[in-house]
Order: sequence, then C-alpha cells, then structure tokens
Amino acid sequence: MRRFEVALLLSACALCAVSCNSCPENCESPDGLFRELRNSLSRAAVVYLPGSEEFEAATTRWSELDTPTVNVVVVPATEDDVVDTVRQANNCGVPILTFNGVHGSITTLVAQDGKTATIGGGASSKTVTDALWASGKQTVTGTCECVSYLGPALGGGHGWLQGHHGLIADQFVSVNIVLADGSRQTIDSSSDLWWAIKGAGHNFGIVTSVIAKVYDIEHRDWAIETLIFSGDKVQAVYEVANKYLSNLPVDITNWSYWLNIPDADPDRPVILFYIIQEGVTVVDPAYTSPFRDIGPISSEAKSGSYRDLATWTEVAVDLPPCQKAGLANPRFPIYLREYDVAAQREAYDTFAANVGENSPFSASIFMFEAYPQQGVRAIDSELTAFAFRNENLLTAPLLTYKPAGKELDDQAARIGNQLRDIIYRSSGHKELHAYVNYAYGDEKPENWYGYEQWRRVRLRGLKQKYDPEGLFNFFAPIG
Ligand SMILES: Cc1cc2nc3c(=O)[nH]c(=O)nc-3n(C[C@H](O)[C@H](O)[C@H](O)COP(=O)(O)OP(=O)(O)OC[C@H]3O[C@@H](n4cnc5c(N)ncnc54)[C@H](O)[C@@H]3O)c2cc1C
Repeated sequence: MRRFEVALLLSACALCAVSCNSCPENCESPDGLFRELRNSLSRAAVVYLPGSEEFEAATTRWSELDTPTVNVVVVPATEDDVVDTVRQANNCGVPILTFNGVHGSITTLVAQDGKTATIGGGASSKTVTDALWASGKQTVTGTCECVSYLGPALGGGHGWLQGHHGLIADQFVSVNIVLADGSRQTIDSSSDLWWAIKGAGHNFGIVTSVIAKVYDIEHRDWAIETLIFSGDKVQAVYEVANKYLSNLPVDITNWSYWLNIPDADPDRPVILFYIIQEGVTVVDPAYTSPFRDIGPISSEAKSGSYRDLATWTEVAVDLPPCQKAGLANPRFPIYLREYDVAAQREAYDTFAANVGENSPFSASIFMFEAYPQQGVRAIDSELTAFAFRNENLLTAPLLTYKPAGKELDDQAARIGNQLRDIIYRSSGHKELHAYVNYAYGDEKPENWYGYEQWRRVRLRGLKQKYDPEGLFNFFAPIG
C-alpha cells in the first residue's frame, strides 16, 4: 500500500450539533471518537486530540482568518484508513475538512509507463516536480512549492506548464477517492463524477491518489526578467502589458505584484513585474524592451531551470508565502480578459492608500497573473466543472495582517471587496468570475463554478447523489 498523509479535521460544531440519542456511544465526545479511530485504523496512522503539540501543529493554518474549530485530527497511513475515518465520521454525522498542503506530506510518486504517474493524495507541488524531474519528466502543478498537488487541482489548477497541457485537473487519468458513504472508488472518464472532480472536486470526497499524465521535459532552460516600477508608472506598465503580453505565446508567463518594498520606494507600493520565458537563457527583448523603455527603478535578468521558478517568483518552500506566521491572508479574486488601464490606476491608488507603513495591512499584495492559455482553451469548457477557460488574467488583492478581532477582519473584507469591485466595474463583465482556490468565501457558487444554469443543475444533482448529507461542505460549497 502506498503511504500518504492527508489530515482530516472533524469539526467540533457538528459534534455538538448532532443529536447523540441515536448515535453510537463513540460519538458522544471527541475522546470516544478518538478511541474508536485509534482502535480501527492501521498501526501507522495517527489520531490527535486537542492539547498535544502534534494537534497544534496539524491545525495551524497558513491563514488565521476564520479558522475551523477542530476536535480530532486523523493522519491516515493507508487508503483504507481514509475509508474507515469517513465511515466513522458518517456514523456520527460529523463533517470532514480535508487538509493537505498546509501540513506537509509524505507520499509515493511512481512514474509508471513514461506517460502517467501515480501521485499520492498528500503530495506537495514540489514533491511532484522534483520526483518527476529526476526521471526526465514533468507535469502541470501549481507554482508554489508548499501548496499541495491536489488542493489546486480540485479547483482546476493554474501552473507554469498550462499553456502546453491545460490545467492541473486536465492531466487526471483516474482518481482514487473516498466518497461520503465511505466507499473507495476509482473514477475516470466513464463516471458522471469525473466532470465535477475537475473544478469542484473539494465537494465530493477525499482523493487518496491520482494517475496523472506526465510529459518528457521539453525545455530545461528558463529565464526571467524582473523589473520594479514606481507606482506613477502604473498606467504605462499595464498599457504596454495589454499591447505586448496579452494572448501570451505558449512560452511566456507574466506576473506582477503591487507591494511595499521600502528599499525601492520608501513611500508607496511598487510594481514588481516578472516576464518569464521557457527554452531560453535570456528573455526575448521583444517582450522586455517595451517595459525597460518605461523606465523601471531596476531590472534584473536571471537564467536557470524550471525548478528555479519558485525561488525567482518568491513562492519556494523557504520563502515567506510558504510560512505559517499567524497572519490572516484573505484574497478577493477576479478573472479578466485584459487590463483596464484607468481601473489599474484607481485600484493602485486605493491599494496604496490602505497599505501604508503604519497600516495593519502594510504587508498586503495585489497579484496579477497572466499564464499562457493554449492548453487550457484546447479543452472544451463543457467537459469540466472548471468554467472559466476563456479568461486571460487571474488577479486578486491579498490582504495580509495580524488578526486582531472582527473589526479588523471586516475592514480587510471591505478593502478587498472595494479593490475587486474597482476592477470588476471596469471589466465590462456582467458576471464576476472568481478562481475558487483564491476565493474569499463571500462569493456565490456561480462566481466559483459558472453562471450557466446547466452547470448549477448538474453540480447540485451530483452533490445530491454523492454527498446528500453535505459531509464535504467546508470548501466553497456548491449551494
Ligand atoms: C503561496 C500560495 C501560492 C499558490 N499558488 C497557486 C498556483 O500556482 N496555482 C493554483 O492553482 N493555486 C495556487 N494557490 C492557491 C491554492 O490552489 C489553494 O490555496 C489551495 O486550496 C491550497 O491547497 P492545499 O492542499 O495546499 O491547502 P489545504 O488547506 O490543505 O487544502 C485546501 C482544500 O483543498 C481540498 N483538498 C486538499 N487535498 C485534498 C485531497 N487529497 N482530497 C480532497 N480534498 C482535498 C480540501 O477541501 C481542503 O480544505 C496558491 C496559494 C498560496 C497560499
């Protein structure tokens, strides 16, 4: 049996809410459930109760906003442990929150026939990338090393290689999943659940492993140009981005962040602008020169391999975004077709006004991610629950702050929504499309899963069939 780790968190609220008259004895308290699980799970599995260091470590989240109240943590060692845990939670009417990337993981990743690999349910993006790289292979994963492979994938999943091959979920060949009734099933394109797993997968069970497509490494060389602009250049930068970096060629990715870098500008947030190219040692000047001509504060070129990308873009395991620092990190995402330059200016000014040196939100960023879309568009939008294949830009303010009560949380939500609203109003879109994996939580299901009536009917029907009691309702519920 392959070893993997996925932590299951059983929420206290439901334990309290459940009527225990009709419940087995073990449901009456976390201790009862703990004993029952401890007796039935495999020897290598572990179960933690509040009060232990391990419990604390397992329940510490990357974002401290609205954290769930947890009664019992299970770290299964085998796929059967997951089955057992779901059955017992089901008996007690206790809902489950699956945790993955925030806990680190041990997993098995086996390259099988050169075209697919089996990836354990607890694998991190870095584990997958490194293991495949060692065999001369690669696949689409999220960009951030500490994020799990499956967390992003279940909501679609954006990554460096999506221009070639599509979203992370598009790589699935089959999925082993423990469903709400505790049954373990292998699903593939012959299952009605297949469609939902690719975009709304968080709602349907615990994925214990996946067989995913892998590819020969096409280009070992990658290059980046990092430019930093002062805020007064915001219009010029996004005007040029619309001209030279829209409908990106398959080998180019462009990200930018607005954030405070006092060494670059002590007074206002700067624009940190990445142009990344595959298969070269220097980014083609056709893309970089128009930006250099704007007059950046600095520009720096680097070259290396695919595995350097996370460090260059500051999402490697040892860098701040991967640390659990007791901060709240709500994001307010919106997909766009192109930049509205005037709205970028207005959003920048509003952002700058709220993230000054003395603001509790001074460590916040505004993210603008442009990935190549060819592989994503090559797949018919109707084939997956991921609904937004026609978008070009993934943007989101990320309000980072030290939690200090509801008032500050409300303030963060107001600012985040205000910033998103500036971008939305100018977009000309009649619908707000929000990447479910970045969602704040107050969006509506149609914002995450698409406005088309047939999508909502289909998702609700599948939910009714596979999880009628709503055991898996914590993460972006279908509604
Ligand atoms: C620094 C950073 C960088 C990011 N970069 C990217 C990126 O490049 N591309 C991208 O698409 N997204 C990215 N994201 C967003 C990411 O997709 C979400 O934050 C995602 O929810 C993280 O998954 P996780 O497993 O690491 O976190 P967790 O909190 O452990 O999981 C999130 C949810 O995913 C579900 N889940 C996870 N594993 C399983 C499983 N095995 N079975 C069933 N359900 C499961 C559960 O519902 C769980 O609550 C990034 C986020 C951060 C913080």
